[in-house]
Amino acid sequence: MSEISRYAPLFESVRIGPVTAPNRLYQVPHCTGMGHALPQTLVSMRAMKAEGGWGVVCTEYCSIHQSSDDHPYPFASLWDDGDLGNLTAMADAVHAHGALAGIELWHGGSYVANLSTRVPSFGVRSAPARIDPVQSQRMDRRDIRALKRWHLDAALRARKAGFDIIYVYPTHGYLISEFLSRSLNDRTDEYGGSLENRMRLLRELLEETRSAVGDRCAVAVRYAANGHGDDHLSEDEARDVVAALGSLPDLWDVVIGDYDEEMGSSRFVDEGALEDRVAYVRKLTGKPVVSVGRFTSPDTMLGQLKRGVVDLIGAARPSIADPFLPTKIREGRIEDIRECIGCNICYAHDFRGAALRCTQNPTMGEEWRFGWHPEQVPAGTGGSVLIVGAGPAGLEAAHILGKRGYEVALADMDIEAGGRVSRESRLPGLAQWARVRDYRLGQINRMANVALYLESRMQASDVLAFGADHVLIATGAHWRRDGIGRWHARPIVPLDPSGVYTPDDVLAGRLPDGEVVIFDDDHYYLGPVIAIKLAREGSRVRYVTTEGRVGAWSQNTQEQERSQRALIELGVDIEVNVALAAFEESIATLACVFTGRTHAVPASAVVLVTSRVSDEALYRALVGEDAAERPRTSPQSPPASVQRIGDCLQPALIAAAVYSGHRAARELGLIEPARPRERVLI
Ligand code: ADP
Ligand code: SF4
Repeated sequence: MSEISRYAPLFESVRIGPVTAPNRLYQVPHCTGMGHALPQTLVSMRAMKAEGGWGVVCTEYCSIHQSSDDHPYPFASLWDDGDLGNLTAMADAVHAHGALAGIELWHGGSYVANLSTRVPSFGVRSAPARIDPVQSQRMDRRDIRALKRWHLDAALRARKAGFDIIYVYPTHGYLISEFLSRSLNDRTDEYGGSLENRMRLLRELLEETRSAVGDRCAVAVRYAANGHGDDHLSEDEARDVVAALGSLPDLWDVVIGDYDEEMGSSRFVDEGALEDRVAYVRKLTGKPVVSVGRFTSPDTMLGQLKRGVVDLIGAARPSIADPFLPTKIREGRIEDIRECIGCNICYAHDFRGAALRCTQNPTMGEEWRFGWHPEQVPAGTGGSVLIVGAGPAGLEAAHILGKRGYEVALADMDIEAGGRVSRESRLPGLAQWARVRDYRLGQINRMANVALYLESRMQASDVLAFGADHVLIATGAHWRRDGIGRWHARPIVPLDPSGVYTPDDVLAGRLPDGEVVIFDDDHYYLGPVIAIKLAREGSRVRYVTTEGRVGAWSQNTQEQERSQRALIELGVDIEVNVALAAFEESIATLACVFTGRTHAVPASAVVLVTSRVSDEALYRALVGEDAAERPRTSPQSPPASVQRIGDCLQPALIAAAVYSGHRAARELGLIEPARPRERVLI
């Protein structure tokens, strides 16, 4: 059977209440960091998913009322008719490509602090907000009636905006899930006490939404199939709710109660991990079910259908990494799929209040501002390009320049391509990161105009002798050995060099042993991952950080808690809010970041995870200190342009290196167009 016909079941239409999804590939609601703040950016991004073949494209959480304001996170809103324009534009753009548009109506309840609207928040009882030192007001019956009215008004507006699927959202700790909770809900009226009473609000919202808009729109519920933990909604109770409400919604969008697992990083959670907990819903309800699982393999998707787990394959991250994933499956171009690596950099940027971006898909979020298309690039102006360094920046640049028709030579001094991605993917839990390399290598290996030269160290004279029209320097960066970083502006003194290691040593297989102190002033994944590796290799590891938690920044990627748990379970000694102040004679001196008080710990070696330095010597040898100088000694005609990209330009995330390589390659030879800027103007 050809791949195309084998995957045909994924492209069957599915009836969802009064509407029909054109296929089974469904972009579930996912946040974007765009929301009400960047509506044009958002519309273009969602439209790209529809163009790429997703049968359903949903909004992010869409607030129904000003008492649900998640500022500073840019959520979607449907508070009044003024919001209709933005959302109508999205629904229209999605419809233009034949997809259905879904909208996730949302009230945050006690979770939100309403920092922008300054309206008191509502809760089933008065409870603290997630972050800010405020509590919600306890809802009385009038408030419940008001909430139902707002929900209804929002549903009517959503229908007016053209949405096909309208969600009721009793999950993820927001207001409706507060009512479901046996511990938060201490009401003595008909909305509290028994499970029947606790689910009353959900039932009423489903019924009322259905009677208001159900003639034209499907009503969906996003529901945690295994409940919210025994203190709130046990697994048995969650099942009882599904049994009781089974046929009320037209669609069950099922997730699980633990968000860290539902959208867990690939360090801790595999593809399709939710199956055992969500599989019962379809059997119990007889209604179409959609669920997620970071599905990138069409065979895994087919397996879910065949086993009767779901009717629709839900995706957030796989649709971000590859908006054209459905088209590629339908056309049998499986090797062209840009698979999500599960790094959660997408989520992290929403969590930082910034627009979505993606490690694998550099065009994500730039569809409107830059007019970038994930599958199309402008034709080049002809000529040859030499790229030095085949890390993520160099590989992406080679891929895009090759696509634009340039003659591309990609040289790397290593025996394998991939740079930091290849090295880091050998660390515990990071294997899927190699997909960044493999996707690009897979593409350029099929391009006759791109040549990869390994074990080819390039010096300035080699670059000039090569005689390319354009040169991109993608030589990366290395970790400092002196301790300079966020905490130390000057080198740590004393620092016994014989026992100093950096992540580069560990990545190259030069491992310290004995009693090792890891000093993490970087705060992301590398310090904790190295701690895990060394502890597994048998070292006695002490992880120290200037932050209050292990890998503190990774709370943005939803992996901090699991990371800290992993270190604890491996017996790593953890010291937070301390800096490495000195290291000599097998003693590391640690200083409290608040008081400066020091204490000594035994250490045969220290691993410094502090900051990096760009490897820009080659670039400087070519252009001097002033980029306008351009090759100073040239035996041949000098290249028309020399640029540096990736970590050589700015040590940063892998996502930033890919983006940098993409941008340089896409824009080479073009006159930079005026960029629209999305902002509020008076
Ligand atoms: P980035 O993240 O910016 O892509 P990486 O550090 O991952 O950077 O990759 C840089 C790559 O450049 C490495 O694979 C390294 O081997 C290669 N490299 C560095 N200097 C040279 C050089 N002078 N000649 C050839 N390759 C080089
Ligand atoms: Fe996947 Fe990472 Fe892209 Fe998110 S940022 S979609 S997790 S590859």
